[in-house]
Amino acid sequence: MDKDDVVRLSEKIAAALGQAAARPWLPTPVRPEPRVATPGALPPFAGSAQQLPDVAPVRRPSGTPHHRPDYPAMVVAERQAAAARGPSPLPSGSAAGAGRAAPARTTREVPIGVSARHLHVSEQDFRALFGAGKAPTPHRQISQPGQYAASETVTVAGKGGRLAGVRIVGPARGRTQLELSPADCRSLGVAAPVALSGRLEASAGGVTLEGPAGQVALESGVIIAQRHLHVAPADARRLGVADGDRVAVECGPTGRRVTLHDVLVRLGPTHATELHLDTDEANAAQVKTGDVALIVAASRAAKPTGRRPLLTERHVAELAARGEKVTAGGPWLLTPAARDRAKALGIWREET
Ligand SMILES: [Zn+2]
Repeated sequence: MDKDDVVRLSEKIAAALGQAAARPWLPTPVRPEPRVATPGALPPFAGSAQQLPDVAPVRRPSGTPHHRPDYPAMVVAERQAAAARGPSPLPSGSAAGAGRAAPARTTREVPIGVSARHLHVSEQDFRALFGAGKAPTPHRQISQPGQYAASETVTVAGKGGRLAGVRIVGPARGRTQLELSPADCRSLGVAAPVALSGRLEASAGGVTLEGPAGQVALESGVIIAQRHLHVAPADARRLGVADGDRVAVECGPTGRRVTLHDVLVRLGPTHATELHLDTDEANAAQVKTGDVALIVAASRAAKPTGRRPLLTERHVAELAARGEKVTAGGPWLLTPAARDRAKALGIWREET
């Protein structure tokens, strides 16, 4: 190919490009719809679903260059100063932060979630209540991952009275379970036992669920939910609890302060740390969802369940963000990816 050939070829290419320029080379990119694993769940890239402990770790890994400020030490000094226990670490004259010390969270504080009366429903019963081919519609996320309050509600009729607008909590379960407060039981005229969710052996019946498409008479499945504390794997060590333990928690404002005993600890890979009380318990202590309770005592399970939480990559990131270590023999089962992540974050220890 000589020089003229190259020129002719480039002219041909230019002509072809000129034709092509009349229409777009590529279709305009379209942002795909996010894939959502569970109905109503946030997509993994939604801002509120993201955690960035790797990007902004609280503690720095070892090998911090000496010219960098020691952030943890600065934070400690700042908190001391804010609590009037030391000089301000800020340049002289600066009053930034004065009088607005962050409320110190003790290691044994847990958030409270108040459960109003609600219904877990089997697929079969849901169809009987709302019509063939129907399934619960997610209305609002609730604190425990994967569960949601559905748009659908039912009326519960007992021999003593009726309760309208009882919310369905999805997704559908194997067995229908109605969770009431003691006050609800009185107004319905049903003698339900205190039981743990899913343990329906002694549960009561004698109520009728009324939906727009039909009714379901419950012969069992009515309980007063035993107060319990969900614990996320990453929080088990901080709180010093294991699955099956019973703890006592203190909550409520001055004048209404109560200690609740017999709070069962439930630990699981998909749990979010939260103390679940019913509306009667919450009203007695005058607390609401989002308030804080303090674990004041714990007793080990008489027969340890031996259930160890499964620690995933996300849990490891949470631990790293709090400056905690992950040990090989810790009170958990580790996924291989979680172990790799712990090693990558420099918080892995072979021995306790
Ligand atoms: Zn719960």
